[in-house]
Amino acid sequence: MMNYLNNVYDVIVVGAGHAGCEAALACARLGMKVVLATLNVENIALQPCNPAIGGPAKSTLVREIAALGGEMGEAADATYLQMKTLNSSKGPAVRALRAQSDKREYSDYMRHVIEKNENIYVRQACITDLIVEGGGIVGAVDEFGIEFKVNAAILTTGTSLAGRIFVGLKSYSAGRLGEQAAIGLSDSLRKLGINLKKLKTGTPPRVDSRTIDYSKMDIQPGDEVLNFYSFKPNRPVRKQYPCYLTRTNEETHKIIRDNLDKSPMFQGLIQGVGPRYCPSIEDKVVRFHENPSHHIFIEPEGLGTYEVYIQGFSSSLPADVQVKMLRTLPGLENAHVIKPAYAVEYDYVPAVQTSHSLMSKTIQGLFFAGQINGTSGYEEAAAQGLIAGINACNYLNGSDMLELSRSSSYIGTLIDDLVTKDIQDPYRMLTSRSEYRLLLRQDNADTRLTPIGHKVGLVDETQFNIFKTKQENIEKEIARLESEKVSATDEVNSVLAKYGERLEKGVRLADLLKRPNISYEVLKEIHPETMELGVARDVYEQAEILIKYDGYLKRQQVQVEQASKLDKFKIPENIDYMSIEHISSETKEKLDKIRPKTLAQASRIGGVKPADISILMVLLEKHKLCSKN
Ligand SMILES: Cc1cc2nc3c(=O)[nH]c(=O)nc-3n(C[C@H](O)[C@H](O)[C@H](O)COP(=O)(O)OP(=O)(O)OC[C@H]3O[C@@H](n4cnc5c(N)ncnc54)[C@H](O)[C@@H]3O)c2cc1C
Repeated sequence: MMNYLNNVYDVIVVGAGHAGCEAALACARLGMKVVLATLNVENIALQPCNPAIGGPAKSTLVREIAALGGEMGEAADATYLQMKTLNSSKGPAVRALRAQSDKREYSDYMRHVIEKNENIYVRQACITDLIVEGGGIVGAVDEFGIEFKVNAAILTTGTSLAGRIFVGLKSYSAGRLGEQAAIGLSDSLRKLGINLKKLKTGTPPRVDSRTIDYSKMDIQPGDEVLNFYSFKPNRPVRKQYPCYLTRTNEETHKIIRDNLDKSPMFQGLIQGVGPRYCPSIEDKVVRFHENPSHHIFIEPEGLGTYEVYIQGFSSSLPADVQVKMLRTLPGLENAHVIKPAYAVEYDYVPAVQTSHSLMSKTIQGLFFAGQINGTSGYEEAAAQGLIAGINACNYLNGSDMLELSRSSSYIGTLIDDLVTKDIQDPYRMLTSRSEYRLLLRQDNADTRLTPIGHKVGLVDETQFNIFKTKQENIEKEIARLESEKVSATDEVNSVLAKYGERLEKGVRLADLLKRPNISYEVLKEIHPETMELGVARDVYEQAEILIKYDGYLKRQQVQVEQASKLDKFKIPENIDYMSIEHISSETKEKLDKIRPKTLAQASRIGGVKPADISILMVLLEKHKLCSKN
């Protein structure tokens, strides 16, 4: 064990939330000595909002993290109370796994994994200052003046940076309920020339389950056939627990409308913009006033507690008003509130100041990941933490940075959006944010990213061999389905009739599978050889998707190739945008602020028009400023 007093490490990770845990683990697994400083070690990997990992688009992030060798998927698989695939009847691009977590178990699991790692030194400390010399990070200082000597720092401060909690018109300094705010670091960053802004988020009340009448609600069970995040085989199956659904009504909405004068949001006490895709209940009632009712899900928080989470009921109204509102919901007439809903406003660092590697553009060795970059959500945070961790190691080793492209992953899309678009509200991953969502599915995250995780050093040989065998088996199965035929017998047609299909003559299994009503399960029913082969589910599901959606996938691949042409136009780092003629001043300022690396990235900056790109392209070609490879 290293001498506690000399405090010399390779990397400091500030914050042990979802970004910080992935960052620390990635660095440590790649051989770096890491000090992981966090405000409260009891809250490592805490889920301060909904006790769930995944859901639309976020599940793809979790599977990508798993494919690259990160930990979030493992933790979610090990600690779920319920597993459910959302949109299971829709196309594979929008199917999404969601794990209802046992919040305490999830946190304990992650803490254990972190503490077991001999390269990670956990410290309960509030980092207040960064030390920069020669343009690079050389240290960090905590609130007691203790200095950590490091060569890289990854800031993952979540909602804690100058955090302020609001319940009604009352507010106080805190990062989240029951935890201090991180004071000091914002000023230190400002002194280093970093620009900070404010965002806001909110969480619903927690209620004692024993005071809820579930008979008045709709039960929401988990799946019968379980899917997991991890690509490791033989996941242990746990008992599943249900969630419940209830609804708001006119009475709820009236109480909300009558009390808007007590809302810090509506009274302008909160300056930061809130999450557009996760609005508070008062926001929903005001913005969607034509809706007579909103869905409210009741979700268990864990087996060791009676606390349940009231999803969809996030609020910053006063605590007594919240109780009145809650008690109008069917089943919650006698609800006892354990924790009130609250909003939190915090500092973040607009990510246009960082590059795709998540390293600061101005301070070498300083990385940002998670909510501090303007995102919202555990999965978005973990994904960035993993990349920041990998790149902090690349920086320390003098290796090339890992920059995932938009066409490789949701992680690449998320980071590109953050560093390119000057986002104004907490960024949440959505399938609609990706122009390649047919290619970037949760089911093929390993195909896309496991070779990268292996090359980086986070996917070990055992896991990589499992991956390679699976890929070979998928190819074999596709080849078999494309060569074997099924005959148009009466027996076959009587089964097909159940699915509204019929064969006039024999067809290849692959052609039959392309029909909308025919799944691989149907092939098993009509073709004994397919049944007998006993192909593993993860293999045949891939074969089925690749055959069924072949045409769409090929078309999207062409789009990727077309877009990559603009990607090849590299823009020199020292280009003087302000001197370019025929581009508006506003556009020049944007280009100068974001300093895109390629024409493709420039084209994604909000407000940059195709005509501006043409001017830029001509200029680059004329002055041979571009390198196309
Ligand atoms: C009230 C509330 C509501 C939310 N609502 C939603 C929602 O509706 N939807 C959604 O997707 N997400 C929501 N979230 C956000 C979700 O919790 C975060 O997006 C996610 O946890 C961010 O992960 P992170 O790792 O960036 O930060 P966090 O998980 O917040 O972790 C940050 C860590 O940094 C530590 N820290 C901070 N500053 C310092 C310092 N100076 N020194 C040492 N340690 C420090 C903290 O102790 C903490 O452990 C909400 C969070 C809160 C608090």
